[in-house]
Amino acid sequence: MRYVSTRGTAPVLGFDDVVLTGLAADGGLYVPEEWPVLSEREWRDMRGLSHEELAFRIMLPFVGAALTEEELADLLDAAYARFDHPAVAPLRQIGPHDWMMELFHGPTLAFKDHAMQVLGPLFELLLTRAGRRVTIVGATSGDTGSAAIEACRDREAIDIFILHPKDRVSEVQRRQMTTVQSANVHNIAVNGTFDDCQALVKSLFGDPDFREEVGLSAVNSINWARIMAQVVYYAWAGVALGAPDRGLGFSVPTGNFGNIFAGYVARQMGLPIDRLVVGSNQNDILSRFLETGTMRQETVVPTISPSMDIQVSSNFERLLFEVYGRDAAEVRSAMDRFRQSGAFDVPDDLHQELLGLFRGHRLTDEETSASMRRILETTGVLADPHTAIGIVAGQVAGRRDEGGVTVSLATAHPAKFPDAVEQATGVRPPLPARLADLFQRPERMVEAPNDTRALQAVVREGLRR
Ligand SMILES: *Cc1c(COP(=O)(O)O)cnc(C)c1O
Repeated sequence: MRYVSTRGTAPVLGFDDVVLTGLAADGGLYVPEEWPVLSEREWRDMRGLSHEELAFRIMLPFVGAALTEEELADLLDAAYARFDHPAVAPLRQIGPHDWMMELFHGPTLAFKDHAMQVLGPLFELLLTRAGRRVTIVGATSGDTGSAAIEACRDREAIDIFILHPKDRVSEVQRRQMTTVQSANVHNIAVNGTFDDCQALVKSLFGDPDFREEVGLSAVNSINWARIMAQVVYYAWAGVALGAPDRGLGFSVPTGNFGNIFAGYVARQMGLPIDRLVVGSNQNDILSRFLETGTMRQETVVPTISPSMDIQVSSNFERLLFEVYGRDAAEVRSAMDRFRQSGAFDVPDDLHQELLGLFRGHRLTDEETSASMRRILETTGVLADPHTAIGIVAGQVAGRRDEGGVTVSLATAHPAKFPDAVEQATGVRPPLPARLADLFQRPERMVEAPNDTRALQAVVREGLRR
């Protein structure tokens, strides 16, 4: 499989280079040159497979000849071994036609593990084969950092440095990062905000000499392999619930459009999805876009669903590319407008076409809290704030056709956001057994000022070579 950039001027690359490159050289995002389509028979034949086996069949066309079938199968066995549920992504029925899929059984209790646990061994394999090493530097406001650390810990070819804003991530989130004792893992508490952390990371990537010196790399949400790995659980739910002989809707709490775009890819591959619902908090740039056809950036407000406190939905560019019939010039022009004025719009007919598949629904914090209470009372499910937004959005805007089902994605374990859950429901969710001693484990991190030179020194100091 070959990959092209959404902006049309970066080189066409194979799977391995796309994974190691991340962002395309023209500022765009890589997508497959064409979508692989599975026949109804191939979908039906996946019934009864284990998660690993199903993942293999979904990923194989995207990987192509870049890995041997044995390499891919071994990699997937290793990737899913660290999930603490034998189904990996268990489904739970919460209404007559409504299900939720628990995506929080990985090492860091959020859905990001599904992609990161695949990306970690994939990076290691491709780097080792190429005789290369990389230094991964990233900023986190909470969930991404711990998922990346768990995916990259103890890997020979990778050193990982994760910046978080000092005293501004929750204690569970911080400890999930800082209690990892591996020699290749470095946590940096920056005296500043999440935006400062991101700006610092950007400044490192903007320094070509430093970039070259340490072999800088990223595992951020625009990496194609993360989308590919997320397609798997849409297929998993679909096949388990009767696809291709039954229609499906999915409801997804999303900010960056990464998770829900994987649902779109599953549809392109032939899974009969006829509704994708975007669940938003007050940072509702995506829901507003679906309502109005205009993408307009506002300032970020903090909410009780912090993993969606985002105002730039990077992965949306991949959908835009499809909507414009893969016309990279149209994408470039929309992205230029967005960068210059903080807004762009799509023509009416394209907006209407999008509404044939997508819907949005937004909840305030008060509505989210009330929903968490109601969900617990009516279904017995203790939902984290992100998951609750997805469930409600699915109830309001999911499909209700005869015979179809709606699946809401539960993106985090309630114990990851214990304060918000307790405040809404009166129940404090305990950490799962394997993390029960998280608050007794020793922490390891360094502090750094909000300064590029100081950060470069910390990275040089920490490298193992
Ligand atoms: C990251 C995250 C999201 C949002 O994911 P997108 O990539 O924006 O779709 C939702 N919920 C939780 C718990 C997360 O960690």
